[in-house]
Amino acid sequence: MFHSAALKLTFWYLAIVMSLSICFSAIIYHFADNELAQNTRRQDYFFNSELPSPDFRNYTQLRKQQLAASESHLKADFVVFNLMVLVSGGIASYALARRTLRPIEESHEHQKRFASDASHELRTPLTAMQTEIEVALRNKKLNMDSARKLLGSNLEEVAKLRSLAESLLSLDNQDSLEPDSPVSLKDLVRVAKERLAKAAELKNIAIETDVKACLVKGDEKSLTELVSILLDNAIKYSPKKSTVSITGGKRGKGGFLKVVDQGQGIAQAELPHIFDRFYRADPSRNKSKAEGYGLGLSIARKIVEAHKGHIEVSSVVGSGSTFTIFLPGA
Ligand code: ADP
Repeated sequence: MFHSAALKLTFWYLAIVMSLSICFSAIIYHFADNELAQNTRRQDYFFNSELPSPDFRNYTQLRKQQLAASESHLKADFVVFNLMVLVSGGIASYALARRTLRPIEESHEHQKRFASDASHELRTPLTAMQTEIEVALRNKKLNMDSARKLLGSNLEEVAKLRSLAESLLSLDNQDSLEPDSPVSLKDLVRVAKERLAKAAELKNIAIETDVKACLVKGDEKSLTELVSILLDNAIKYSPKKSTVSITGGKRGKGGFLKVVDQGQGIAQAELPHIFDRFYRADPSRNKSKAEGYGLGLSIARKIVEAHKGHIEVSSVVGSGSTFTIFLPGA
C-alpha cells in the first residue's frame, strides 16, 4: 500500500520538477535562439557593406547553415539536460516520497499493532466467558450454586474488560490534554493515596508520604491518574507487609515526585520496555499474580510527556523500584 503511495507521490514530485525544468528550458532556448538570430543579423548587416555581392551570398548561405546547426545543438543540449533532470529528479523524488511517507507509515504500523494487541487482550476474557457459558448451558443439571459461580466468574471477566476499555480510552485522551492550571503535588498524592488505600490495606502495605508544598503546571485529573498508576504498581508488585514511600517537592523550576517500593523489582533488560503499550515485564508472573494489561506505564508516560516533564525509573531485582517524575512549575 505504501509502495504504491510512494510511487504516486514520486510521480507528482517528478511532474512538478519536470514541468519547471521544461518551462525554464523553453524560456532559455527562446532567449538563446533570439540572441543567435540577432548576432547573425548584426554580422549580416556588417558583411553586407564589406563584402562583394557573390561572396556575401555565399557567406549568408554559410551563416544560415551555422545558425541551423547551432539551433539543433541547443535543442539537443536541452533534451539531454531534461533527460538528466528526469533521471536524477526521479531518484530524488522517490527518496523524498519515501521520506515523506515514513512517519505516516510508522504511525500506521503503530496503529495496526495497537489494534491487534488490543483485540488480543479483549479476546482473552471474552473467550473465557464464552467457554464458561457454553459449558454451563450444556450441563442439564445446572443448579443455582453453579449458576451463581458462573455469574461471579463472568462478572470478574466483565470487570477486566471494563478496566481495559477505560485504560484504552485514557491512553487516547492524553493526546488532547491542555495542562496549564497550577496543581499542588500534596493534593495529588493525597487523592491517589485515598484511591489506593483499600488495595494497600488488603496487602497490609504502609504508604508513607513526605511531600513538600509545590505547585506544578498541569491537568489535575491526569496528574492524579499518573500518581495513582505509580502507586498502584508499587502496591501490586510489592510483597505483603512492606512499605511504599512517596516523597516530593521543588526541584529546579518545577517539582518532583518519587515513588519507592520494596517490591520484586524489574530486571535491567526489561527497564527500557516497561513504558511500551501492553508490555508486561514477566508475562507468566504478572498474568497470574497481578492483573494488568501493561498499559499503566504507557499512560503514565503519555501524561508526563503531555506536561513536558519526564519520568525516570531505577530498580534492583528483589529489593524494589523507584519511579521519579519531574514536572514543570506553575
Ligand atoms: P501492568 O498493568 O501490567 O502493571 P504497567 O504498564 O503499569 O502494566 O507496567 C508494565 C510492567 O512493568 C508490569 O507488568 C510490571 O512487570 C513492571 N512494573 C511496573 N511497575 C513496577 C513496580 N513498581 N515494581 C515491579 N515491576 C513493575
